[in-house]
Amino acid sequence: MEAALAPQYGKYHARNLFGAVYGQGEFSPEAVPEKLRGELRAGQLREAGRYVSGDGTVRYLMELGDGKTVETVFMTEGSRDTICVSSQVGCPVDCKFCLTALMGLERNLTAGEIVGQVLHVMRRHGLAPKSRTMNIVLMGQGEPLMNLENVLKATRILVDQRGVGMGERRICLSTSGLVPKIEELGRATIRPRLAISLNASHEEQRQEVMPITKKWHLADLIEACRRFPLKPKEHIFFEYVLLRGVNDSDEDAARVVSLLEGLPAKVNLIPLNPGPGIPYETPEPGRVERFQRILMRSLLCYVRKPRGRDIYAACGQLKRMNEPEKLVRIGAGA
Ligand code: SAH
Ligand code: SF4
Repeated sequence: MEAALAPQYGKYHARNLFGAVYGQGEFSPEAVPEKLRGELRAGQLREAGRYVSGDGTVRYLMELGDGKTVETVFMTEGSRDTICVSSQVGCPVDCKFCLTALMGLERNLTAGEIVGQVLHVMRRHGLAPKSRTMNIVLMGQGEPLMNLENVLKATRILVDQRGVGMGERRICLSTSGLVPKIEELGRATIRPRLAISLNASHEEQRQEVMPITKKWHLADLIEACRRFPLKPKEHIFFEYVLLRGVNDSDEDAARVVSLLEGLPAKVNLIPLNPGPGIPYETPEPGRVERFQRILMRSLLCYVRKPRGRDIYAACGQLKRMNEPEKLVRIGAGA
């Protein structure tokens, strides 16, 4: 739900409306003063599908006001809850290992639609505002830096103490590496943390798996990370999708170490989540471990556990997959 107040209304009305829309972690129409109801723009999200994984991960198919759908994922582990939200319908970036890429871009989401995904999951799972165990990652469908204005607006709404009251440090966005937009993000006063999808150890290899590198070169991307104004104790996350026989050798690991040298980096290794039409394979666990060990000599490095692969909810698998027979088939092998 969104509202654009006509000019005759002032701050007081705006605050009133904000409280009604975001205040209790959910939209409550009765709380909107009568005369302001006409200011609300329809656009509340509707749950069009819900898929529950064997590991507890839940993938939501959310229908927008215009009938288009995006995906939102809820993951819980120990006391930590993570909501993975989409920033666009589809994605215009053509990473060769990602199912979302096959959709192309349909449109940007509004700030209200980004926040709406969070509110829906909070309501569904009984998550309270101002939680210290909830994290939001902009790692669903879309390239968040291609919709930066709305992503920043959504972040400001999410951290507002009168609403969801998220800690700014608990929101993170992941990008394929749009250099000028990283600089713009760095200039924002309130902003998510930065994660870079690195996914390759040298320029040629990155151009092959992420053609966007032809426009924004790897060296310039790393430079932009070095210049990025970090807050105290802040790290930059680097994600690295491991593709068997492509970017997973010991030499690749050594090159990643030297690329990131001197950066306050944390690396998340993501063994490929497979999907139909994706021309790569997942490395053996032993290879992943060895890669991690080399990085660990000088960097913080974790292996991201695949979550919800059986329901197409894992990284790079968001493509509105809703045919149950396919879900069962991949569930058996993944
Ligand atoms: N568009 C943004 C955020 C969404 S993708 C980005 O690319 O950063 C979130 C993460 O999933 C990225 O790090 C991406 O590299 C990774 N990813 C994409 N496809 C994947 C796949 N098939 N298996 C594992 N990780 C994948
Ligand atoms: Fe888009 Fe990210 Fe998928 Fe690349 S990995 S196609 S940027 S969603």
